[in-house]
Amino acid sequence: SRIDSETISLMEVCGTHTMAIARYGIRSLLPENMKLLSGPGCPVCVTPAGYIDTAISLSRKPDVTIVTFGDLMRVPGSESSLAEAKAAGSDIRVAYSPPYALELAERHPDRKVVFLAVGFETTSPSVAWTVLQAHEKGLRNLSFLPACKLIPPALHALASSEEVKIDGLICPGHVSTIIGTAPYEEIAREYGIPCVIGGFEPVDVLLSVLLLCRQIARGEARVEIEYSRSVQEEGNPKALKLLDRVLTPADSAWRGLGTIPDSGLELKGDMSDHDAKIVFGVDIPLGKDNPSCRCGDVLRGLISPPECPLFRTRCSPSTPVGACMVSSEGACAAFYKYHQLEQEKGTTAHGE
Ligand code: SF4
Repeated sequence: SRIDSETISLMEVCGTHTMAIARYGIRSLLPENMKLLSGPGCPVCVTPAGYIDTAISLSRKPDVTIVTFGDLMRVPGSESSLAEAKAAGSDIRVAYSPPYALELAERHPDRKVVFLAVGFETTSPSVAWTVLQAHEKGLRNLSFLPACKLIPPALHALASSEEVKIDGLICPGHVSTIIGTAPYEEIAREYGIPCVIGGFEPVDVLLSVLLLCRQIARGEARVEIEYSRSVQEEGNPKALKLLDRVLTPADSAWRGLGTIPDSGLELKGDMSDHDAKIVFGVDIPLGKDNPSCRCGDVLRGLISPPECPLFRTRCSPSTPVGACMVSSEGACAAFYKYHQLEQEKGTTAHGE
């Protein structure tokens, strides 16, 4: 069958899968003709440099407090990072969840608090909840710089580009807990790509690979749920309703994939008092990535991180050149951290 005779490329589109695959040395357990590719599954990695630039310029306003997830702090913008802006005196706070920004805005009415809303469908419901709270409380000093993104449009973009051959998709467990199976049904039907929604334990990933191989061997393309202890076909209707109340799809720029129609989430019209772009009258440009960094190719599954000439030479977690090396869910960081361990143990993964 194809499974024995051809190169089979399976792509995961979730940073937690990327980390699990690297941490547990799963590549080293698979046959040589089976490749696991990392897709655009890390929200920090796909956020373009221009977004960081905009956040930095807002942070320089004397009455602004920026609230962000920690992963974003060291991501390079066109010229510098939020960490450098903080060191230079900007008021930038790290949060574990969006409601912290609400608390901060309530405690400091003299400050204009801006939350950097970066994330996929897993994070967006808590952003939406926080926007709604700010709206209902009339909290005018809290706004959100929107960069939430949707996974299914990115999958359509990848599947239709034909730049990279994808034989199967390990679909993101957390995102799918929110969105359910319907968006993947379209991918399976339109492009003939088998989809398995997988969990994050090593055995989940291996079982997902097995289920994909079975579909490929049988010439099938459908959606299966491996992560059945969390994911329901219909997703989480309450979270979906909340998203629909507060946010609306809009075109959005992804590092490596360009602008994808309806792949981002913006605040709906009646929430615009809390849209930082409107409050401060700013647009988010694309910005400039370091031209030597190949994050864009990594995020499209075209190369694996060690194929970037800067990997482990100029680029490491302590001196990151690109976003994929900064984020704890980035493919370059995962390869750096765990591939080294595998080499030390003498169990170098296949094909890397
Ligand atoms: Fe960019 Fe560094 Fe990854 Fe190369 S190794 S693609 S420079 S983040």
